[in-house]
Amino acid sequence: MKNFDKIEKLRNVGDKTLKKLNKLGIYTIEDLITHFPREYEDRTQILKVCQLINEEKSIFKARITSTPINNRFKQKTITTVKVSDDTGEVEISWFNQPYLEKQLKIGTEYVFVGKIRRGYGKIQIDSPKYEITNKAEFMIAGRIVPQYPLTYGLSQHVLQKIIKNALDEMQGVLNDILPVETRKKYNLAEYNYAIRNIHLPENDEAYNLAKKRLIFEEFFIVQSALLYIKSKLKDDKKGIKFNIPEDIDLVEKSLPFELTNAQSRVIDEIKNDMTSDTIMNRLVQGDVGSGKTVIALMGMYICVKNGYQVAMMAPTEILAVQHFEFIYEYLDNEGIKVGLLVGSLNKKQKEEIYEKIKIGELNVIIGTHAIIQDELEFKNLGLVITDEQHRFGVEQRMKLTSKGESPDILVMTATPIPRTLGLILYGDLDISIVDELPKGRQKIDTYYVNSSYKERLYNFVREQIDMGRQAYIVCPMVDQNEEMAELKAVIDYTEKLKDTHLGKYNIEYLHGKMKPKEKNDIMMRYKNNEINILVSTTVIEVGISVSNATIMIIENAERFGLAQLHQLRGRVGRGEHKSYCVLITDSKGKIVRERMEVMKTTNDGFIIAEKDLELRGTGEFFGTKQHGLPEFKIANLYEHVNILKKSQNAARELIEADSELKDEKNTFIKEKIERMIEYKVL
Ligand code: ADP
Ligand code: MG
Repeated sequence: MKNFDKIEKLRNVGDKTLKKLNKLGIYTIEDLITHFPREYEDRTQILKVCQLINEEKSIFKARITSTPINNRFKQKTITTVKVSDDTGEVEISWFNQPYLEKQLKIGTEYVFVGKIRRGYGKIQIDSPKYEITNKAEFMIAGRIVPQYPLTYGLSQHVLQKIIKNALDEMQGVLNDILPVETRKKYNLAEYNYAIRNIHLPENDEAYNLAKKRLIFEEFFIVQSALLYIKSKLKDDKKGIKFNIPEDIDLVEKSLPFELTNAQSRVIDEIKNDMTSDTIMNRLVQGDVGSGKTVIALMGMYICVKNGYQVAMMAPTEILAVQHFEFIYEYLDNEGIKVGLLVGSLNKKQKEEIYEKIKIGELNVIIGTHAIIQDELEFKNLGLVITDEQHRFGVEQRMKLTSKGESPDILVMTATPIPRTLGLILYGDLDISIVDELPKGRQKIDTYYVNSSYKERLYNFVREQIDMGRQAYIVCPMVDQNEEMAELKAVIDYTEKLKDTHLGKYNIEYLHGKMKPKEKNDIMMRYKNNEINILVSTTVIEVGISVSNATIMIIENAERFGLAQLHQLRGRVGRGEHKSYCVLITDSKGKIVRERMEVMKTTNDGFIIAEKDLELRGTGEFFGTKQHGLPEFKIANLYEHVNILKKSQNAARELIEADSELKDEKNTFIKEKIERMIEYKVL
């Protein structure tokens, strides 16, 4: 048997169990053996009854001394039995397991595991796990016992057995994807050993070695895969070789401002890519307001002047419209036809646009995800630009590419990514960084206060509105990650606000559950200063630019990641007026303070992102989903940064030495990567 064989091949996996395992995402042997324990129970110490301590989860051996009896109490069946060893007696109760009455045998010795209650001279225990001593299976006595994430209808005990059985069957035959040299260089345990010891650790040291190796591997494989794809794309297909149009300076001259050095540098990098015959796969990373749209505009101009079409994809309709307006203004004058394709168009309008795209009447098309839909055909797509809210998967990017004869790809993101995470997120792309804001931008003054300051804060809001400015309030986050609850929070907050002296102003709310049209409507009215205060969920994180908005208030600021706070803050400070961000938090935690302090002292998204990573710890409120990071089973980006760095080196070394993974020692890596691509897990 091999790593990727189906679990049906294992003994003891019947149809019923199979379905349940599938529910847990387990299909292959590898899936099964990488279904890692979520915790362990130390059952190495078997106690005597007299040693049992109140409130402690303990394990002891005892013989049943009374006949098990079922009693009914308040709709429940309670099975009770007495057990003892030569040092004392324990009373045991189980709930709603009436069959135990027959199953437990008087006079037989069992091992019990459970939480002890001691009091009134008695020792009691409720619903312990148990096993007959002389059958002493692995799960009970004398060892560290793994506890797995479960699904409905699959018990811990059954899963433990299945995995143990798989481990026994596969011992020594699992393929190790890491070549021996790599393992030696980075001091990593062998795969069979690591897998065995992550499930059934022999001792602490073995466990630590196993864990380190498996974390390393998880990071390593994702990064290797991305680098492999990158080099494959470069080699496989020739891209379009664009020429720089002679009148390129015209665009620059028509702008009402001078490009920053960073913008010019990135534009040069893009020009280099576009004029070469390899496909451009470039990520432009720049803080909010660093001026990425102009960069995109230059790329568009080059592409269209060479006779090709451009598609630009934005995460929301509002943003698509905003891009459209900006770009239309500059390109329409040059005789370049720019179209907008968004969900709210009616069928006829859409069909018209489809047609125009197909026959090449439109040169530039800007829209939402609608652009990657299958029915949309281009005449000759030469450049695809995506403005990302969150990361698109590799798969989606590939789909875009397939719309044209290997078009160039430009990805823009306003999420500053810590250097260490760059390779995990965007290893398949070349990266350009716009690390400079246009001149004259004012720092957004940031403060953090507790809720007792709210009255003063509202007074400040009043002053600003009376000066003609506008405010955003990002609403208290609710515990459940449920949209309904979030909606309720926004509405409640708005109602309360209307009862204060701010009630005389125009207050509206915005949340993710609204229809695009409603959202659009509110945003437009806000932009036109018909709304003074906008109470919102984090949906405004990516929204249109409202240069008149000067106050951003964020409630429960401790619940947001720094990167997200920064993103939200970026909604203000977009115009000539001095802007403010006030973070409200009643949390007194040290880390929270530190995080708020970071927000207060810097406006630099990259510094913030690094700090975020450093301070986040394990409590991932603003988790990997937000960034679109791959999901890891055992590795954790925040805890295992050091291993991440090492694995990054190893991945680079691997692809540099053997970019096509043709070497025999890399067979298993290649197989695994190909599977990842096939199953779209990147
Ligand atoms: P982002 O990087 O967040 O997408 P935008 O491209 O939307 O930023 O630019 C933000 C604002 O800054 C826009 O109003 C844009 O016209 C303006 N801008 C862009 N580049 C410059 C520059 N070099 N000097 C002054 N203003 C600029
Ligand atoms: Mg932008």
